[in-house]
Amino acid sequence: MHDGQIASLRSKLDICVKGEDVPDPIMCFSSSGLPEKLVLNLEAAGYVMPTPVQMQVIPSSICNRSLLVSADTGSGKTASFLVPIIAHCSHVRSERCTDKQGPLAIVLAPTRELCLQVEEQAKVLGKGLPFKTALVVGGDPLAQQIYRIENGIELIVGTPGRLIDLLMKHNVDLNKVDVFVLDEVDCLLERGFRDQVMQIFQALSHPQVMMFSATVNSEVEKMSNSLAKNAIHISCGNPSRPNKSVKQVVIWVESKQKKQKIFEIMTSKQHFKPPAVVFVSSRIGADLLSEAITVATGLKVVSIHGDKTMNERRESLRRFLTGEVSVVVCTGVLGRGMDLLKVRQVILFDMPNSIDEYVHQVGRASRMGVEGMAIVFVNEEDRNLFRELVQILKTAGAPIPRELANSKYTTGIPLGGGKKRKLKSR
Ligand code: ADP
Ligand code: MG
Repeated sequence: MHDGQIASLRSKLDICVKGEDVPDPIMCFSSSGLPEKLVLNLEAAGYVMPTPVQMQVIPSSICNRSLLVSADTGSGKTASFLVPIIAHCSHVRSERCTDKQGPLAIVLAPTRELCLQVEEQAKVLGKGLPFKTALVVGGDPLAQQIYRIENGIELIVGTPGRLIDLLMKHNVDLNKVDVFVLDEVDCLLERGFRDQVMQIFQALSHPQVMMFSATVNSEVEKMSNSLAKNAIHISCGNPSRPNKSVKQVVIWVESKQKKQKIFEIMTSKQHFKPPAVVFVSSRIGADLLSEAITVATGLKVVSIHGDKTMNERRESLRRFLTGEVSVVVCTGVLGRGMDLLKVRQVILFDMPNSIDEYVHQVGRASRMGVEGMAIVFVNEEDRNLFRELVQILKTAGAPIPRELANSKYTTGIPLGGGKKRKLKSR
């Protein structure tokens, strides 16, 4: 294809690229020199065609380029980094054919659940190839994780804190790590994670760095520079906005009425479309609400949050994903990156702290363009987000509740005329 054709293809697929010598997108998995077995595994997983983000990321990654990628929730970012990683690992291993070597790639993600899911997908796609993985997350015994790494693996998938823990206690040869992935990069570069991520990065010797999120702002772009100079920036679809396939239904509900409202929704055949995910802002709130829903509606509900043990979290997620229970009430732990297969409905019982988190939580209702719905409760306690929220709803053509549209925090016009009050942060 000549330049004009490539530009028109990118524009048709909603792909924007920034950087020098950006490789051309691929149209099918078999055209990029991937191991045959990997292409078969992709087919077996039902991946007939690459998604737009995969079309652009896979060839760029194979050319060893560092990347900063923003693409909608549910658009297939995981496979876009796993496919080139698996190809690279199996290539290196079959050439040097020695086993029991150190890892060749590291993927970091902010939550245990997401790591678990990424590792699962890596195993599925890398089946039958010289490609072993280790999951390094808190809550599981460290000794087992060390044992697994000692026995030779290609990829580590982990949360930053636990990986640092492991690296302090055990000598892992990181010299061969060629690929370093930050999934949900904006979250991983926030205070709390950033220092840990940088510490791990500094232990590596000039890896290719690939960074992904549905929400990449200019701050993240700047910070990403310190991890990778001359990275290609790829943007697909409509990042930083809720996925277009999710219908946003915002309802004004005073805090005291929230429980009653959710019971009404969950007992209405018309409005309740299980399996459903309910997001709340606190761990204790998750437990209390899940019990209250069970009592009021008779539905089977589990709660997932950071105070539960890893086994409880794993088991609850399993019961939810297999359909044994129809509702999960959780904190933000399931907000990012989780591929909750059959879920078409999410309820934001409490608004999250930022619009970026909102975009991710709403995104749980859809993947690969399938229609979903997000029901969102707001009231004046969420005033910090009113302006951005209204902007987002307008862009999506979603209805805006009267109270929200008329609020002085939305319009910027003080209603009472009195002294300016400071916004209280949550
Ligand atoms: P993201 O990380 O962009 O939010 P995921 O990587 O979790 O999205 O992918 C969302 C869903 O799409 C997953 O269920 C995944 O298995 C599926 N998927 C990804 N790529 C393809 C593809 N090429 N063909 C079909 N399904 C795909
Ligand atoms: Mg993801």
